[in-house]
Amino acid sequence: LSSSLKDAVKKLAGKTVVDRAAVDELVRSLQRALLQADVNVKLVMQLSQSIKQRALEEEPPRGMSVREHVLRIVYQELVGLMGGAGKVDLAPQTILMAGLQGSGKTTTTGKLARYFKRKGLKVGVICADTFRPGAYQQLATLCAKVDVPIVGSPDEHDALKIVREGMKHFEETEVIIIDTQGRHALEDELIEEIVNINEIARPDHRWLVIDAALGQQARDQARRFNDAIGIDGVLLTKMDGTAKGGGALSAVSETKSGIVFIGAGETTDDLERFDADGFISRLLGMGDLKALVERAEEVISEDEMDVNAILRGKFTLRDMYKQLEAVNKMGPLKQVMSMLPMGGMQIPDDAYDVTSTKMDRYKVIMDSMTPAELDDPQIISGPRVQRISQGSGVPPEDVRELLKYYRIMQRALKGMRGSKFSMQRMMKRFGKMQ
Ligand code: GDP
Ligand code: MG
Repeated sequence: LSSSLKDAVKKLAGKTVVDRAAVDELVRSLQRALLQADVNVKLVMQLSQSIKQRALEEEPPRGMSVREHVLRIVYQELVGLMGGAGKVDLAPQTILMAGLQGSGKTTTTGKLARYFKRKGLKVGVICADTFRPGAYQQLATLCAKVDVPIVGSPDEHDALKIVREGMKHFEETEVIIIDTQGRHALEDELIEEIVNINEIARPDHRWLVIDAALGQQARDQARRFNDAIGIDGVLLTKMDGTAKGGGALSAVSETKSGIVFIGAGETTDDLERFDADGFISRLLGMGDLKALVERAEEVISEDEMDVNAILRGKFTLRDMYKQLEAVNKMGPLKQVMSMLPMGGMQIPDDAYDVTSTKMDRYKVIMDSMTPAELDDPQIISGPRVQRISQGSGVPPEDVRELLKYYRIMQRALKGMRGSKFSMQRMMKRFGKMQ
């Protein structure tokens, strides 16, 4: 699945214009990935439309390859779909928890209590679930664990009464979290009760708890609760399982809110702030798209190679080292290379596979070379290899390996000098567009 997406990304490599067929293919595999992650069909179609339109209409920014241009649009559109992270204030507030039974409301209430308490706020919890037997006990146990007071009773059946008492009891408390009942399905009584609780408590936030495995029903649930009380944030639970949580995006779009927190486990500290990049990576089953786009940009802007000299035919060991450094900055090379094949450069697959340990060794070797040798490694004969080897305390094979590596790179660059297109491409890749 993710490999078809990667393949589609690869096909954009080395293109000098954005072509419709390649974009279509990319969008198709993106669609497959999103649908499998439970993202709503309508949302997927909207997303596809805007990606296609933007990719074909917008000019790639100067110095940015076609592939990076398209990837960046895909990324931006996906972030748009996330609706941004829901707002969390570290201030006095009342939070009303909404959602069906089993979604994770009570567990998340305990997690949130711990979260705000650790931020130094005074927290109180109200158990307004008088429907499910054992609901109070469950929440009381969680509250005891995080040392937060709770208002509620296993014997009281009037949820509204408990909320009234709780709000009074916690007048001096900074953060009040109200856990509610969920029932098994959307029923009128359930909605009526939460509407009433909402009126009594007048909460600052009404957060909807959605199970990551929920899929397409997320939309209906979100609509019902949103119509009833106005949802302003989504709490996505059970992200430690196999589900990718795409259903939450329907809830986000339906409520025009954002994901606030992610629950990824059953204990009270399994709570994370929502991070769009991580979420997108998970949805698509591929590496961190944003980091990749950013790293590519960074490399372009930081590379200090003298492009003109290289184009004139001068490629020194120092240039090679700089380039290796730049590529190394992009992180795990294998991963980066599989996503961002060096557009059009005829470099063998393993050419960039130089670990940082190796880089360090190359540096030591180069320190034992004379300036003349660094500028023109051709002059490094057998005796010179011996001298460099002794000077740097590195076996002669390593010196020869460095030289071999240099020759591979040099050949690759020579090959590129041939055509106008590849020259432009290389200049882009190496930055420094005058
Ligand atoms: P509620 O009915 O909405 O209050 O849901 P609960 O909080 O009682 O949770 C229902 C079940 O889901 C319980 O067994 C929880 O332990 C479990 N659960 C809740 N959140 C998570 C989560 O983030 N990860 C995992 N693995 N289980 C969770
Ligand atoms: Mg509950």
